[in-house]
Amino acid sequence: MVNIPKKCDVVVIGGGPSGSAAAAFLRQRGYDVVLFEKKKHPRYQVGESLVPQFWKFCDAAKATDKILAEGFIQKAGGTVAWNGVIRQTSFKQFGYKRPALHVERDRFDHILIDHARENGAKIFEEVIVLGANLERSGGPSVTYRPLGEKTPSEIACRFVVDATGQSALIGRQLDLRVIDDDFRFMTVWGYFTNSMYIALDGRAYPHEQVKTIPPTTFVSSTGKWGWSWHIPLRKTTSVGLIIPQEEVQAVKASDEALQGYFLRKCAETPYLGRLLEPARFSEENFHVMRHYSYRPKALTGPGFFLIGDSAAFIDPIFSEGCLLAFYSAFLAAWAIDRSFRHPERTVESQAVFTRQFAGRYEVGHALAMPRFGGTGKASDVARMSINFDSAQEQELMYVASTMAERSENLVELTQKKWQGAGSEKFRVLETIAF
Ligand SMILES: Cc1cc2nc3c(=O)[nH]c(=O)nc-3n(C[C@H](O)[C@H](O)[C@H](O)COP(=O)(O)OP(=O)(O)OC[C@H]3O[C@@H](n4cnc5c(N)ncnc54)[C@H](O)[C@@H]3O)c2cc1C
Repeated sequence: MVNIPKKCDVVVIGGGPSGSAAAAFLRQRGYDVVLFEKKKHPRYQVGESLVPQFWKFCDAAKATDKILAEGFIQKAGGTVAWNGVIRQTSFKQFGYKRPALHVERDRFDHILIDHARENGAKIFEEVIVLGANLERSGGPSVTYRPLGEKTPSEIACRFVVDATGQSALIGRQLDLRVIDDDFRFMTVWGYFTNSMYIALDGRAYPHEQVKTIPPTTFVSSTGKWGWSWHIPLRKTTSVGLIIPQEEVQAVKASDEALQGYFLRKCAETPYLGRLLEPARFSEENFHVMRHYSYRPKALTGPGFFLIGDSAAFIDPIFSEGCLLAFYSAFLAAWAIDRSFRHPERTVESQAVFTRQFAGRYEVGHALAMPRFGGTGKASDVARMSINFDSAQEQELMYVASTMAERSENLVELTQKKWQGAGSEKFRVLETIAF
């Protein structure tokens, strides 16, 4: 029987990157934080490619040394094969001194939750939160049940931070999630051993060299809107497909099983198929996710904040998920701290949180859109918000979007600031040398 307190300042629900970072940031500001995680770390999670901007949040959380010490794969840049054109860029050209990473998320997320614990957050794993009572006078409470126990218990607090990822506990409870019609995709993915990978010289190397010759993340278009990822990790390579709805229907109509479709499509995709020729697929590690993109109707309410994927999810083409998780955790800690110090300004602090998080989310959304506009919503907030990103970050976003043939989004967002720029920051390869 775990000894869980009856009250605290802040309850964080979920121990992924957003929850653990929020707990660490809040502890650093001196608050009494309880974090519930329904699983036991290390636990599996997808989303292994981290862009170099993520370091600023690790620095802020004071977790950088622990992440560096783990020895994750350092990636040198990106290679994108889009509609037959291969483009390649390196992060160094944008002035980044530290590498981007390919991380096994079970290890990465474990480091972060341990870091929150070391900062004094009271972490309770294998405890599921069943719901949040947000109407209670005197502040919210959270109902939870430790694994193996039958009776739920309750903890009172001043603020609840929902960091439950795609489970979106409060979002579902209050019906705040709206399925995003701009990204009607399904995704399937799995892990291979012994895949080759592409380095910055445009050559393919055997996996055993991945620690000495840094890899790039390899992304390919697979039809009109679909795409694939190839992310070399220390022992395996994460490979996935984003499949547009029309193609999902076609697969459903055929007799082909999804796993068979996945393997066939990988083998048929130019360069990806070659990289996987010597590889072995790990059958037990095949994953499917349907209807995975959604936007929020609200990000805060009486006593609560939604952060990370519990708030919103967009197509992961530019590896923005963990970045948004950290950013929203940082903002929530700021807003909660301000609300404790100035209770009369709580609504205003929540409004600042919403404006900043929604703005950055809309930038990510516009960046990931196959063409600018989509439903036409929220581009004004994105136009304002992108100015909070440094010129270096904007330029990297612009080049990344050019490589995946959707740069008009960024041109529009930055009011043509980057139009025609950045062409010296990537090169076009004739082929991949095998
Ligand atoms: C196919 C795919 C590919 C992706 N690729 C990338 C990528 O390359 N780079 C990138 O940065 N991002 C990527 N992402 C996104 C990234 O994985 C997420 O943005 C990130 O994990 C969000 O972190 P989080 O802490 O908000 O949520 P999560 O990591 O999902 O953590 C939520 C935690 O809450 C716990 N939880 C849930 N419900 C409860 C409950 N009721 N009680 C207690 N605990 C609970 C869960 O067990 C989990 O540990 C990808 C996502 C997908 C789907």
